[in-house]
Amino acid sequence: MPTPAKPNGRRGANAKAPEEPAGPQPCSACRATGNVFANRAGEQVSVACPWCQGSGSWSPGFDAQDAGVFPGA
Ligand SMILES: [Zn+2]
Repeated sequence: MPTPAKPNGRRGANAKAPEEPAGPQPCSACRATGNVFANRAGEQVSVACPWCQGSGSWSPGFDAQDAGVFPGA
C-alpha cells in the first residue's frame, strides 16, 4: 500500500504574498477565451487576442504593445 506523502517543512513566515504571480494567468483582455472583438470598418469581428495570442493565458511581462501587435498604438 502506498505511503501517503507528508508535507515536509513549513512555509515561510512572510505574511505578505508576492504582488505579481510568477506564472501565466488567465488573460483578462479576452477573458481567457483567446479571442477579442475588433472594430473593422464598423463591423465587430472576432480576432485572436493579441495579448495571449489566442492561447487564453497571459504571461506577466509580455507586453503586446511592446511586441508590436498593436500597429496603431
Ligand atoms: Zn487574451
